[in-house]
Amino acid sequence: MPDQPLPSPATQAVTAGRAASGRSLAPALWASSTWESESLDDAHKRATGVRQTDFYSRYGNPTVRSFEEAVRDLEGAEESLAFASGMGAIASTILALCSAGSHVVAQRQLYAGTLAFLQGPCARLGIQTTFVDVTTPGAFAEAVQPGRTMVVLAETPSNPRLELADLDELGAIKAPLTVVDSTFATPLGQRPLDHGVDISLHSATKGIAGHNDATLGVISGDADLLGEIWAYGVLHGATPSPSDALNALRGIRTLAVRTRQQNDSARSLAVMLADHGAVRATHYPGLSEHPQHAIAARQLLQYGTVLSFDLGSRDAAASFLDRVALCRVATSLGGPETLACHPATSTHASLTPDEQESTGVTPGLIRLSVGLEETVDVLSDVEQALA
Ligand code: PLP
Repeated sequence: MPDQPLPSPATQAVTAGRAASGRSLAPALWASSTWESESLDDAHKRATGVRQTDFYSRYGNPTVRSFEEAVRDLEGAEESLAFASGMGAIASTILALCSAGSHVVAQRQLYAGTLAFLQGPCARLGIQTTFVDVTTPGAFAEAVQPGRTMVVLAETPSNPRLELADLDELGAIKAPLTVVDSTFATPLGQRPLDHGVDISLHSATKGIAGHNDATLGVISGDADLLGEIWAYGVLHGATPSPSDALNALRGIRTLAVRTRQQNDSARSLAVMLADHGAVRATHYPGLSEHPQHAIAARQLLQYGTVLSFDLGSRDAAASFLDRVALCRVATSLGGPETLACHPATSTHASLTPDEQESTGVTPGLIRLSVGLEETVDVLSDVEQALA
């Protein structure tokens, strides 16, 4: 019999991650933190097996496993591994792979929590990071110190200015391990592993769960590598909640239709903003004038649900946020509601003024996570707030 072609990712989002739910169409919630053993031999097997899902929930849980299997299929990976949050995924991965004296290469344009983790706890533990400009071709590879660099960490599209790392360039780095925070793209918008990257990472709190009702992280890659990270993660303890995994798995079922609608609205907003007299700059990789549009066209399957734009001053940004009515002023992204935030005073408030300036987190910058409302309604709310 000829091999059946794999269904499209949008279909896989509907079919994946059902093994632990029996004949139930909705995912089953395994709330248990522990499982009975039949004998000492059985207990020993459960305690020492890799990624057991019926021993103790910090080691593995069937509902979490279903979520991991769904993400694994969407990422085209051998395995996926979930954590209690995106930061849980980042911290556990870096600390699993690095020791005192290790070196990391990371881009300067990062989510502020990731930046703070590298500059604070990692530096304190003797893990040193070289920060590079993600938009400079070849910058990651050039900063690698052979034998010392353990991880190259990219975030693409980046938070909050949507700068892109070239996934083919990252995939060509054969040692050290490459990790891509792909949160802004979702697994339907980009597949880093297809480009040769070792680990794709998401804050599943965002578009994957998609309803602002779960805090979760997930990584995908080679099974042996994820087994190693799992062994450390069991001790680190950033263990995902089965309830959050259930919400995220439910969210995955509609990921394709949600991101399609959000992408359409984001593109319409970007086109309107790019042409608006009150807007100094619009950052959206789907715009043909975006400086990295050629990279976007090569590696993004969807241009994205988030965009940012600069109104020139903090006062103009504050006045915009005062006037929006449909858009809600809140951080986070990927949910049903359109959210507007001012990165300089919220998501990136921990950066020094110099760091804000060098990463383009300007006083007038607004980030929009485009929701599921009708496109015309979001457009008219943003237009009236700018007027
Ligand atoms: N990575 C990116 C790109 C983010 O934007 C965030 C949070 O905003 C995180 C990681 C951290 O995720 P979490 O809040 O789930 O820990």
